[in-house]
Amino acid sequence: MIEFPPVIDLDSIYVLKEYFGYESFRRGQQAVIDAVLAGDDALAIMPTGAGKSLCFQVPALMMDGVTVVVSPLISLMHDQVMQLVQNGVAAAYINSSLSFEQNRIALERAAAGAYKIIYVAPERLETDDFMYFARRADIAMVAVDEAHCVSHWGQDFRPSYLNIGKFVAGLGRRPVVSAFTATATDLVREDIMRLLGLQDPIVRATGFNRENLYFEVRKPRDKFSDVIAYLEAHPGQSGIIYCATRKSVDEVAAGLQQLGFPAASYHAGLPQHERLTVQQDFVFDRAPIMVATNAFGMGIDKSNVSFVLHYNMPKNIESYYQEAGRAGRDGSAADCILLYSRQDSQINQFLIDQVDEDNSLTDDELSAAKARDYRRLREMENYCNTTNCLRQYILDYFGDTDPCDCGNCGSCNSDTQVTDVTIDAQKILSCVSRMHGRFGLSVVIDVLKGANRKRLREAKLNELSTFGIMAGQPDELIRQVAQFLIQEGYMQVIGDRYPVVGVTQQARAVLKGETTITMPLAEILNEPTSSKAERRRLSSAKKLTAGIEADPQLLANLKDLRMKLATKEKVPAFMIFSDAALLDMCIKLPTNEDEFLTVSGVGKVKLEKYGAEFITEIAR
Ligand code: ADP
Ligand code: MG
Repeated sequence: MIEFPPVIDLDSIYVLKEYFGYESFRRGQQAVIDAVLAGDDALAIMPTGAGKSLCFQVPALMMDGVTVVVSPLISLMHDQVMQLVQNGVAAAYINSSLSFEQNRIALERAAAGAYKIIYVAPERLETDDFMYFARRADIAMVAVDEAHCVSHWGQDFRPSYLNIGKFVAGLGRRPVVSAFTATATDLVREDIMRLLGLQDPIVRATGFNRENLYFEVRKPRDKFSDVIAYLEAHPGQSGIIYCATRKSVDEVAAGLQQLGFPAASYHAGLPQHERLTVQQDFVFDRAPIMVATNAFGMGIDKSNVSFVLHYNMPKNIESYYQEAGRAGRDGSAADCILLYSRQDSQINQFLIDQVDEDNSLTDDELSAAKARDYRRLREMENYCNTTNCLRQYILDYFGDTDPCDCGNCGSCNSDTQVTDVTIDAQKILSCVSRMHGRFGLSVVIDVLKGANRKRLREAKLNELSTFGIMAGQPDELIRQVAQFLIQEGYMQVIGDRYPVVGVTQQARAVLKGETTITMPLAEILNEPTSSKAERRRLSSAKKLTAGIEADPQLLANLKDLRMKLATKEKVPAFMIFSDAALLDMCIKLPTNEDEFLTVSGVGKVKLEKYGAEFITEIAR
């Protein structure tokens, strides 16, 4: 008799559609899934929102036995398990939010094979109960989410993550081990592999690019009015407004509430129970606008966040990208807009200055850390001032070498014209060279504009021949040209705490009139941005839906229906369907079950549960 190889009857695409309702994998997902299904360990480094969860959830459904997911936060576990159950997957979690008895029952059921996936907090792994379960159970895979928590070098070190390696080693039969994180420098990556005891893992780092995010920097005179204009142009959308301080959180939130916007506020100064309540209000869309400090966000997996506005500039690009990355997780077009003012720089500078003692660091280490923080701050400021592609800037910063075809950021979409700025450049360069590399850009601009300042007179800068030669020109124009000259290597910035500018060799040809300088320049600097931004948002949304327009009334009706169902079932609206799924319904206009099943995000269980009601609503 001929022996046939075992037939794999569930292929991963089938599982993806059946349980999660998606047609195809995103970049990087398939490779990781294939590896763990083949029995290999894996380390996946993918940006926030890229879809790491599916990389362990899909194979978990296909492997014999149970997958243990280690996750650092109770709220994360809770949301993910809820979503899985919504999709018809047998899943549960074991953590301190359950009573001793509830945990015992869950483990009992898990050992009996009732679940395909269980989520646990890392502290659990050490307990006798859990070890007793683990020895009896058939564990197919241990998946470590937010794996950077194992490393001292990471941002959120969790000592209990160090138990994971020991736990795996203590199992009778070694399961596949997979690890997932959004941020891993080389040091962190090494730590993850070593401390989790990964064996010859495949390592997949997908690019940092998030195509659906629109990036923009604005410099409004009045930030609050700018926020209002934005919110008025985006009614009914959910988003986060990050502010630098608790005080500004309170002010902005109160201002919005007064105007009738459904806003809540969150910062670390609020009592724990209150923080939990507002967080839930946000997740359940009772208060779809969240005004918060950076204390808010970790553990929030809300997929329908359509915008992240920064009321102030964060301290570095890492923080910015992490916070902004909370927008558009479901792949829909979303806005990441930073409202910058010079004061933001000063506040951040002040905060770094202030740190003059850290018991865990020697003096040398402390000054090195400060120098690093100043440098990172400078890079953040450059982001706010560049006229080049913002997406490219971020990708370059993270060392992502993938080519980026942007067309979806404030620089790429701005109404700029390539302008000859040779004369302006000559004025700036000759002024800078006369200042002998002893002053920063702000002083240079003051001199060029001929500002009446004591400080300039004291340094005799008002006696320079270039004093006032650009009087009457907008600061912003001078700054943009200067920034461009720095980017292109005609000028150089030196120094961390007190950065100063000087000219380079390259400047000579410009000063002698041998080189012309052209750069993209906004037609009207400082034009009110709200209408312009709206136009851009529409164009980028269109790009994502391949030119087909959704009927806004239908979309609104479907959202209402979703809200009704969510309230009835007491789950957040996005767990019924994501915004992306509703948008897809508006485009595909399904009239029967088969057509409904082709909607992105509709799997078998969702079809059975909600198909009829949505089809009826669409027909109506
Ligand atoms: P991460 O953990 O990497 O930040 P998540 O796993 O939370 O990201 O996924 C983010 C969102 O992307 C979720 O709403 C998820 O349903 C969606 N998603 C993941 N994979 C796909 C896919 N292949 N097609 C469509 N949507 C996907
Ligand atoms: Mg995740």
